[in-house]
Amino acid sequence: MHHQRVFQVKSPAPGLIELLIERGDVVFTPGDCVALFNPAGVSRPYSISSGQDEPYLRFLIRDMQGEVTEWIANLSEGDIVKFSRPFGWFRPGLNGDAQVRSVFVATGTGISPFISYLRTQPEARPEMCLYGVRTAADAVDVAFLESRCPTTLCVTRESVNGYVRGRVTDRLDRLPIADDVHYYLCGLDAMIDDVSTWLESKGVHFSRIHREVFFNA
Ligand SMILES: Cc1cc2nc3c(=O)[nH]c(=O)nc-3n(C[C@H](O)[C@H](O)[C@H](O)COP(=O)(O)OP(=O)(O)OC[C@H]3O[C@@H](n4cnc5c(N)ncnc54)[C@H](O)[C@@H]3O)c2cc1C
Repeated sequence: MHHQRVFQVKSPAPGLIELLIERGDVVFTPGDCVALFNPAGVSRPYSISSGQDEPYLRFLIRDMQGEVTEWIANLSEGDIVKFSRPFGWFRPGLNGDAQVRSVFVATGTGISPFISYLRTQPEARPEMCLYGVRTAADAVDVAFLESRCPTTLCVTRESVNGYVRGRVTDRLDRLPIADDVHYYLCGLDAMIDDVSTWLESKGVHFSRIHREVFFNA
């Protein structure tokens, strides 16, 4: 178990929390989560969105006003947070390899493991990133993502110039299909199921479809 100090808590958009905790000696692989514990000992997993060697562990958290997110939303700089050792099986770039051809599809805070991988591997250039959010303000690190790969931002609840109005599942025809591409899906279970079904219908073997479910709708 780890105990580290909160460095910063911000709300980049309504209902979205960006939490930075001092990393200390915590070692992780991009794609890993940690379980954050509230003072009552209730924990939930959260995916790390910072690079491996950065001084802080960064998390992007949708405020569900539930048992754990309500506590996270009220954290302040200097508070001590208890969390588990990093763990996970979702591995962008297979084992973090910058050369693997990959496509990322994310909804909401499901973008976190991809940002962690890209921040850890400066040479990684994914084939594409499809990123779905409710409003444009919910989208984080868009310029960074665009600097690293062709990125399509799909906004469901408003129209914004330059962004696609609709769901990521409306834009699947943009995804490159090839035998050596690995597809990484992270976020809402319904999106992950729909994208997996579509990829399999295009002949993509399930061993190249990697899934991380954050939320069940
Ligand atoms: C492997 C993994 C990684 C995760 N990483 C992240 C992450 O990086 N960022 C992040 O924001 N979340 C992440 N989650 C989700 C997170 O673990 C919690 O489930 C979430 O924050 C809600 O916790 P809570 O205790 O605040 O809410 P709870 O107390 O569990 O639920 C509060 C209320 O919200 C409702 N609710 C819960 N989920 C939903 C939903 N999807 N839609 C509508 N209502 C809902 C519940 O029914 C309940 O009424 C991850 C989940 C997994 C499994």
